[in-house]
Amino acid sequence: MTTPDTTIFETRESQVRSYCREWPAVFDTAQGVHQFTEDGKRYVDFFSGAGALNYGHNNPELKKYLVEYLGGDHVVHSLDTYTVAKREFLQTFQDLILTPRNLDYKVQFPGPTGTNAVETALKIARKCTGRSDVVSFTNAFHGMTLGSLAVTGNSMKRAGAGTPLYHSNTAPYDDYFDGETADFMWLDRTWSDSGSGLDIPAAVIVETVQGEGGLKAARTVWLRELQALCRRHGVLLIVDDVQAGCGRTGRFFSFEEAGLEPDIVCLSKSISGYGLPMSLTLMRPELDQWEPGEHNGTFRGHNPAFVTATAALKTYWADDALEQNIAARAEQLRDGLQRIIARTEGASLRGRGLLTGVAFADTEVAGKIQAAAFERGLLVETSGPSSEVVKVMPALTITEAEMAEGLEILVDAASAVLH
Ligand code: PMP
Repeated sequence: MTTPDTTIFETRESQVRSYCREWPAVFDTAQGVHQFTEDGKRYVDFFSGAGALNYGHNNPELKKYLVEYLGGDHVVHSLDTYTVAKREFLQTFQDLILTPRNLDYKVQFPGPTGTNAVETALKIARKCTGRSDVVSFTNAFHGMTLGSLAVTGNSMKRAGAGTPLYHSNTAPYDDYFDGETADFMWLDRTWSDSGSGLDIPAAVIVETVQGEGGLKAARTVWLRELQALCRRHGVLLIVDDVQAGCGRTGRFFSFEEAGLEPDIVCLSKSISGYGLPMSLTLMRPELDQWEPGEHNGTFRGHNPAFVTATAALKTYWADDALEQNIAARAEQLRDGLQRIIARTEGASLRGRGLLTGVAFADTEVAGKIQAAAFERGLLVETSGPSSEVVKVMPALTITEAEMAEGLEILVDAASAVLH
């Protein structure tokens, strides 16, 4: 294998780049759960574009609609003008996602990325309640812009903002309660006491499974208590489903399992189905209090993304075949990961659905396994405040044989590191 030419990246691209340091290769083509470097080396992809590729790379079912759309000179960029592609998406989202789940949300297209969806949710909450604080949780990740970073519980990421961010309150996530009763009494009491100095916030923002924060999955009881607390105090509940949504944890929305009814929902990553930039902020209809033009953006109408998003919903969410595959492959994944856990003291299983991994007591281990996996032809990420978790996030369409192939490499890599 020749050494890849990375000179221009190293000399011209900002040093902020990170994934390329973990995977020092130059990738070129990709299909399904595999990526290929320019010199033809094949990698199993257990990372899926940080969750943006739930239906795999260049999914042929979705590609044909995209190619047809581009070939027909249909509108590509449209700001927020009405287009056929957007109409199709909204109607399909209504028919296949909202109506069957009895959900009533207005849909806003806030921009290309997840952080845009979060930023918009925070603004809506502040505007509709007239309050400014948003409570978020330890180890939460909500994005990199100033607002979404202010509710992100990661000090390394927050350091990137240079100076302290606007005031926002951080509460302990469910993992601090060790399976004890869900305890929101302290928030309940302080919010009830106007002299406590803890003002009632505009909203609480939560991930049901913390994707970047180490695959901690909140218990149903904790999530329901949180929703009840919010309702009692007139605080809006925002579920950030940017990573855990679009089927990643088993159902389309990650909060379905706990039966939550959030006031606002953020979606992005896999909503376009094809890795194209797209995000949604869903809000209860009465929260749609914007004046026209009050929240603008040039890339709110990326029609090729609407086309693949519609195709993804029609292909994968009109029946329960995908959900069944997620459940079966998640079981296969947990069984495979148990082979690593069984031989490692202090290792434990984390996550839900196909957002599952192994946490190691020794924080060096996950990074070493990631490097050993890369050498053997597998792309897998780490997660958590000390990068102590090996995070497995394959395409939801992965077959049994493909999962077995990736797991074999991962177990082999772990054996090499753990001897
Ligand atoms: N929220 C969550 C839960 C995320 O995982 C991410 C991205 N990892 C974001 C928001 C931000 O999304 P983006 O990187 O597309 O801006």
